[in-house]
Amino acid sequence: MDLSKLISLQRIDKQLIALEITKGDLPEIVQQLEGRLVSCTNRLSNSKSELEEAKKTGRANENEIDELYEKLMKYQEQSYSVKTNKEYDAITIEIETIENRIEENEKKKADLIHLVKENRETVGELEKQVTELEEEFSQKQLELKEKLSQTESEELRLTKERELVTEQIEKRLLNNYNRIRNGTNGIALSEVTNYTCDECFATIPAQTAVEVRMKNRIILCEACGRILVPRETLEAQPALT
Ligand SMILES: [Zn+2]
Repeated sequence: MDLSKLISLQRIDKQLIALEITKGDLPEIVQQLEGRLVSCTNRLSNSKSELEEAKKTGRANENEIDELYEKLMKYQEQSYSVKTNKEYDAITIEIETIENRIEENEKKKADLIHLVKENRETVGELEKQVTELEEEFSQKQLELKEKLSQTESEELRLTKERELVTEQIEKRLLNNYNRIRNGTNGIALSEVTNYTCDECFATIPAQTAVEVRMKNRIILCEACGRILVPRETLEAQPALT
């Protein structure tokens, strides 16, 4: 069983993992910041609409108050020139109705002024948050871009090398390798040192260790499920040219 290509593949994959690690959590931070920025911008836009709506209602209410005062003045003028008690009673009722409506609208006015003030404060706070997030986002994005440009050529070289190696590996073996990688943080092969699995430190039975050294078939670590390879095989593997 030829494990050499698989060993080359793991060597490349380990270097790719190391590259990912040098990027750190920057890609994640940038993504999170972008998400926060989008949601904050949406909230700002909603608050602005609410503010406009409150202002509009406030203006309509004030217009109504003005109109009511005009009517009130008209009735009050008329009340001086009424001739009969019946006319006087009728006009008094009109005046009372208008006065009540004015009182209601004045109360509404106070509430609306408060609402506009509140909405204005919310808009101001959100605008500040959006500005801060935009600054933080573009700064982290720039950092990430710089870091990516450092690792990009290396990553490209390794990816090409990986393609060349995988082409030479039997499909079923490659599928196994990839499946094991997915469940083992990207490391599918493990050396056996002193009857121990180097990756999970489980003890390997002597008979198994002998079989591993013979390299006749694929043997998996019973504890972690990785493909076991003889000691020093990984390091002894010559660099792929
Ligand atoms: Zn193991």
